[in-house]
Amino acid sequence: MGEASESLNFIEHIVEEDLKNGFSKDDLRFRFPPEPNGYLHIGHASSICLNFGLGLRYQAPVNLRFDDTNPAKEEQEYVDAIKRDVEWLGFKWDTERYASDYFQQLYDWALLLIEQGKAYVDSQSSEDMANQKGTPTQAGIDSPFRNRSIEENLAIFKEMKEGKHDSGTHVLRAKIDMSSSNMLMRDPIMYRVLHKAHHRTNTEWCIYPMYDWTHGESDYIEQVSHSLCTLEFAMHRELYDWFLDQVIDEQKVRPKQREFARRNLSHTVVSKRKLLQLVENNVVDGWDDPRMPTISGLRRRGYTPNAVRNFADTIGIAKRENLIDVSLLEFCAREDLNKTAPRVMGVLDPLKVVITNFPEGEEEWLEIENNPEDENAGTRQIPLSREIFIEKADFREEANRKFFRLKLGGEVRLKAGYIIKAESCTKDSEGNVVEVQCTYDPKSKSGSGTEESLRKVKGTLHWVSCKHARSAEVRLYDRLFTHESPDTQKDKDFMEFVNPNSLEVITAYVEPSLEDAKVGDRFQFQRMGYFCVDPDSNDDKLVFNKTVGLRDTWAKLQSK
Ligand code: ATP
Ligand code: MG
Repeated sequence: MGEASESLNFIEHIVEEDLKNGFSKDDLRFRFPPEPNGYLHIGHASSICLNFGLGLRYQAPVNLRFDDTNPAKEEQEYVDAIKRDVEWLGFKWDTERYASDYFQQLYDWALLLIEQGKAYVDSQSSEDMANQKGTPTQAGIDSPFRNRSIEENLAIFKEMKEGKHDSGTHVLRAKIDMSSSNMLMRDPIMYRVLHKAHHRTNTEWCIYPMYDWTHGESDYIEQVSHSLCTLEFAMHRELYDWFLDQVIDEQKVRPKQREFARRNLSHTVVSKRKLLQLVENNVVDGWDDPRMPTISGLRRRGYTPNAVRNFADTIGIAKRENLIDVSLLEFCAREDLNKTAPRVMGVLDPLKVVITNFPEGEEEWLEIENNPEDENAGTRQIPLSREIFIEKADFREEANRKFFRLKLGGEVRLKAGYIIKAESCTKDSEGNVVEVQCTYDPKSKSGSGTEESLRKVKGTLHWVSCKHARSAEVRLYDRLFTHESPDTQKDKDFMEFVNPNSLEVITAYVEPSLEDAKVGDRFQFQRMGYFCVDPDSNDDKLVFNKTVGLRDTWAKLQSK
């Protein structure tokens, strides 16, 4: 083992321990169990990578299980989105399962519990039940219905199922221990009446099983060996085990619940409920808005599956919650895109440059590498003409020696092209430079091997030929929240921290090769960052999302 065991996370250590103690490797089975009440977010990516990672490590099946027991909040749209996102991350589930597939089995087991005197129908209001719950240090009070006869319990429970009772009138409760030190063991609710159509079972059921009753039994039905959930379920484990004890066949695999810490990302919220609020209040433009921490938002923003998986693997699995800085996620995007994204030129804030000694009406096509990081990426041709755009910030009339870009009297190289020298500039009535006049050295062409081409100049600028450039809408994003932890601030709602300036839309000029770019294509705009073609693009209009800049803010944070 040695080295290999050092790289195991604590969940994998638990599995290893079980295998050592005689658990058969063939019996290993895992599941990823989302509730289809929203789109998956970056926190789910951790759970997906953990569960599917275990599947890959032990060559064990992993089920995709929809925990669909609450028709009030669940929809087919969410089921479809979840499947798309898990697939996009590159994982394959063994079988697609639904807790709703087990409604009949769960109901039959519930009847069994009633018959054994282990469950009863409580007909009190939820308020009364809450008042009887007690406190962690004070025992609860028995419900007046706790000793209802088995016959009466069976009769009412069947009526509940048959739709003879209104929503909220009766619940089925497990008869466990109203004085347990674990409040969850104080006769937890197993079923409630809810007259609401379900996205799969439609109106077949009007009683729905509660999470605790459903989850462990579903694991058992699927013969999941290790049921991994987040820490808030640690207290539920006792109940998970109690429910299993009621139905277990000792010949079968007994699922084991283990908990790991929820992953939180800075400057955002990772909770479907809160993300839904952003969508419903039109703070963002849908679940896949590129500012959202959803998998679909990250995809639209230009993230690669690799980047998201590397992020999840880098932060790993922990026993305690903490806040992960979003710059680490950005680092992972940059690292992957650097290897894979073709380089192109696009000017975001254009300033016109006229090359006065470049013949009018002519053009020259220059060869340029598609990706210096990838020797198989090949080259393409880009056009140069007398008028080009450069970035406004790349020119100054006067500047000190540390300014390696273009200044009057100074020289720079045009990427893949020639050395130009700024001779003069034109200003508007407010004193803003609106045009720069340059000359170029026709012998200095990049890669031509001439003495002039080998001359060193300090700066190389990206540029586009005015006449050939395509205009494109570019969407620049900032953090969605101004606070690094918007949803943990005392007495403040997370919505108070929404950044009003999280989106800036500009018009940029990009090289003509981008005309053929397809939705989802990712590029590095040289010197500017990584950009991805947005689905809003059409034949008339190119739209890019800025994925992430080139500067590595994460490494900077680390070296502080
Ligand atoms: P949300 O509050 O966003 O709805 P949830 O835990 O209710 O989260 P589920 O659909 O039940 O969402 O989650 C499916 C799985 O993903 C569960 O095992 C859950 O524990 C895990 N998970 C959810 N959020 C995170 C997170 N932030 N970090 C790690 N795992 C998570
Ligand atoms: Mg949930």
